[in-house]
Amino acid sequence: MEYEAVIGLEVHVQLGTKTKLFTRVPYAYGAEPNTLTNSVVLGLPGALPVMNLQAIRDSIRVGLIFNCQIPEICKWDRKHYFYPDMPKNYQISQYDKPICQGGEVEIELPGSARNIMGKHRMVKLTRIHLEEDVGKLTHIGNESLVDYNRAGTPLIEIVTEPDMHNADEVFAFLKSLRMHLLYAGISDCDMEKGQMRCDANISVRPKGERKLGTKVELKNLNSISGVCNGVSFEIKRQIESLESGQRILQETRRWDAEGGITISMRSKEMAHDYRYFPDPDLMPVKISKEWRESIRAEQPELPFIKQERFFQQYDLPYSVTSVICPDKELSDYFEEAVSLYNQPKMIANFIVNELLRELSVAGTNGSLPLAESKVKPHHLASLAKLVDQSVISSQIAKEVFNEIFKTGQNPEKIVEDKDLKQNTDTSAIEKLCADAINNNPKAVAEFKSGKDNAINAIKGQVMKASQGKANPKIIDEILRKLLA
Ligand code: ADP
Ligand code: MG
Repeated sequence: MEYEAVIGLEVHVQLGTKTKLFTRVPYAYGAEPNTLTNSVVLGLPGALPVMNLQAIRDSIRVGLIFNCQIPEICKWDRKHYFYPDMPKNYQISQYDKPICQGGEVEIELPGSARNIMGKHRMVKLTRIHLEEDVGKLTHIGNESLVDYNRAGTPLIEIVTEPDMHNADEVFAFLKSLRMHLLYAGISDCDMEKGQMRCDANISVRPKGERKLGTKVELKNLNSISGVCNGVSFEIKRQIESLESGQRILQETRRWDAEGGITISMRSKEMAHDYRYFPDPDLMPVKISKEWRESIRAEQPELPFIKQERFFQQYDLPYSVTSVICPDKELSDYFEEAVSLYNQPKMIANFIVNELLRELSVAGTNGSLPLAESKVKPHHLASLAKLVDQSVISSQIAKEVFNEIFKTGQNPEKIVEDKDLKQNTDTSAIEKLCADAINNNPKAVAEFKSGKDNAINAIKGQVMKASQGKANPKIIDEILRKLLA
């Protein structure tokens, strides 16, 4: 029998607000334990929560990015459980009236359909709600230490419909989610720092069957590849269980990345009863149409839409747009350069082939940030102009680029100082061409026997002899004249 897997994700993302969700205490990853707290964070008697406006605004922005409905009213509920990472013994969350409902995330699958823009798949969302995070426990021997710095920081939980069917779709979903949230400046989505956390729900069913199978919830997925490996393993495990006549138990399992397996944590009978009820300390929030629309008006152009535009407007290939467009800063940088000198392909190539490589070499811990680059958009525009107007060759342009990268000097000055101008003195070039023809009888013979490509070897010799400064168009003309 053939089986189909069904997957739904629950993704928590930490919002990058300056302060916590219900009190003006900042949050910083890696701060000295228990220094970022106050009476509200610690849940001391009488302390009252006050809503963080920016967290609401950010959640609405996320909802608009993914085409969710933003209901007029959302409200706050207490979710109870007793665990030392949560000082109040309840978490303030949203139960039946979340801030965003429905929606969809556009995903780009690997394979042949990949670069067909406008043909991406959509993954349906159920809801997005806003809640506070809990503290962090560290277990050392028989002791457990608790740090409440993270407690009370704002999280959004993005819940998908059971709408994915394999690890590739899960990978593409998480990548797209992260790209959009980074783009809009919502969160850095660094899974290692816990800024993005994902639980996966997985079931399998006979192909063609409409009813969903019994689901397993998978936890402890610490990286995007971890999610994908865990999901793949679990699909295989469930199919093998069914094939050997066993039933799937509804349970929570943990992904053991080192062992490459999933391990049972608790069964359905042990499931929590959270005793949700409305939080009496917080008023429901009203989101008027005007407010919602004013936030929509500020929304940046989204990466897949930008990619399609770059393709249409600048005629850039997929391989280039897929590097530039997911990064807002980089695509703004590109467009600024193009607005100064209209050679989009050349400028895009400088960015993708030279700039990104040099930034990654120059960085000590990852790439050097674009903002710290000495090469500014106006440099690339001037460089493109020099090549476009045949003042320098594209070979020399790379040398000039490296010099700008080191010094931040203007390309015109570098070309002047280092005497890098292309040689357009035809009589000098003619001399070099004649020498190259004499020194390369084999290539000459091949060219004369009809192999047009053979001329490139001779051109290369002329270029070398001129130290890269001879104008390639003039070389070509002279060589063809002499060889004829
Ligand atoms: P629970 O009440 O156990 O939290 P929900 O109905 O809230 O379950 O769903 C949680 C997540 O599990 C959602 O992402 C949903 O898409 C997914 N899900 C629900 N049922 C299944 C299933 N049978 N197979 C796979 N995923 C499922
Ligand atoms: Mg759930």
